[in-house]
Amino acid sequence: MSDSLRLLPLGGLGEIGKNMMVAEYRDRIVVIDAGLMFPTPEMLGIDLVLPDFEYLRGRAKDIEAIVLTHGHEDHVGALPYLLREIGMPKVIYGGLLTVGMVRSKLDEHKLGGAPLTELPAGEVVSAGPFTIELVHLSHSIPDMRGVVLGTDLGKVFFTGDYKFDQTPVDGRPADVARLARLGSEGLLALCGDSTNADRLGVAPSESSVGPALYDAFSACEGRIIVTSFASNIHRVQQVIDAAVRLDRKVALVGRSMRKNFNIASNLSMANAPEGTLIQPREIEDFPDERVVVISTGSQGEPFSALRRMANNDHRDIELHSGDTVVFSATPVPGNERAVNETIDRIYEIGATVITAKDRPIHASGHGSREEIKMMLNLTRPKYVMPVHGDFQRIRLHAELARSVGIPDENIFRGRNGLPLEIGPDGAAFGEEVGGGVIFVDGVELADPNDATLRDRRTISDDGIVIVVATIAAENGEIVADPELIARGTISLGEDPDLLDDLADTVEESLEKAAGSGVRDLDLIQGDLHDAVAGFIHRKLRARPLVVPVVVEV
Ligand SMILES: [Zn+2]
Ligand SMILES: [Zn+2]
Repeated sequence: MSDSLRLLPLGGLGEIGKNMMVAEYRDRIVVIDAGLMFPTPEMLGIDLVLPDFEYLRGRAKDIEAIVLTHGHEDHVGALPYLLREIGMPKVIYGGLLTVGMVRSKLDEHKLGGAPLTELPAGEVVSAGPFTIELVHLSHSIPDMRGVVLGTDLGKVFFTGDYKFDQTPVDGRPADVARLARLGSEGLLALCGDSTNADRLGVAPSESSVGPALYDAFSACEGRIIVTSFASNIHRVQQVIDAAVRLDRKVALVGRSMRKNFNIASNLSMANAPEGTLIQPREIEDFPDERVVVISTGSQGEPFSALRRMANNDHRDIELHSGDTVVFSATPVPGNERAVNETIDRIYEIGATVITAKDRPIHASGHGSREEIKMMLNLTRPKYVMPVHGDFQRIRLHAELARSVGIPDENIFRGRNGLPLEIGPDGAAFGEEVGGGVIFVDGVELADPNDATLRDRRTISDDGIVIVVATIAAENGEIVADPELIARGTISLGEDPDLLDDLADTVEESLEKAAGSGVRDLDLIQGDLHDAVAGFIHRKLRARPLVVPVVVEV
């Protein structure tokens, strides 16, 4: 179907994170979001996980625009890597705060010349065979925008992340009127957020969190340390407001907390009364009961400010009994363990912890089931492709679509790399293009099938054994006793008999090679590897990383 509109998800389906969608029509492309995901504990030494950009390689000239729904990392975090890999597009659109946050991020990546452009909600621009319009929605970061992509086949609406907050902190609820008009104009397809498709009812309003924070703070006698997402500007503002009412000073701690507050206050989206903010190094100058600290680290991130405090390793803040740490966030799936560890260390120090289980001090930024149904009923799409969720939530979202009357055959439960092709006569999944991942290891991009990661896993499970052997160049005979170095391999280091037997195995392997006239070092090392690995597996049931080093003299 060459006349069809292709919607190709490169990330975000069957997982929580790295949201990215490629919309293609008449060989022209609009990319919606380019998010990242944080690695799971098995991805040893991997810093970030990105969508696989392969499909876009060599096609920078076909990209009419990149459109960003909002400034969260799972929507914009892969952008610097994408731009470096495929080159600069003509334009990158987003809301005002999104553009501000992304500009600062790209500057850090030395990509200062990116064509970031604020597109006000409701303004329609054309981009090749597409029109682009942003629709204001509410979420846990200001300036959240859904994306209406128009073609002569019809319009597709990408919700991005949303909830229907009737009393948002900035007084700007979702543009329900525009959503309803999309429905009455006849919407071709909807790609909607599935995050909370398992939660009953309606998400609590962000503005319900402020009074709960005030109540929690009122009961504290000592210092208060609040942690939340640095990008949740309205939450940070509500913490500041509660602190001011209780005559406490506020210190912002953690790089992203300070950076995002600065960006938001420069855009007049956040403010603190004169004299409220103090520097982290001034905290000790004020009595405990006069201080609120707002810190990064709500997800237990290893190098975050809160994690450092919990480990007694923060430059400016030493936690002590009498302090109360308030978690105004819940762990993103996958982060529960790191968060629990952080909480327990805080208790070990003697401080107290308040979480969203104790008091209503957090509200999700994603709509629950009734809100997902409301989005479907307002926009009344012909086709639905749930996105932004694991397979369970995508299924639940599909069931919600059916429950509001969308026929089964018009609901598409997709996965990364599988394009939905919508033509004048219908819609169907096309041919899979591969929706893998790219790892970021330090600053390098790496293939997940790379041997490095497998080696790291092997070493972490069973350790490493290095065998150094010296042979004569002319006949392959052993000229010195082989040297064995074992690290992290249970009992190999301590058992002299085992080490002797292993040395014998090494010698046998080398003698066999010499006897049969094998002189190729790679072959000799390969045989040596197999002999040593086989021996260790037979004796210890372990599979350490075996590194043979054969030196010719
Ligand atoms: Zn979000
Ligand atoms: Zn998201």
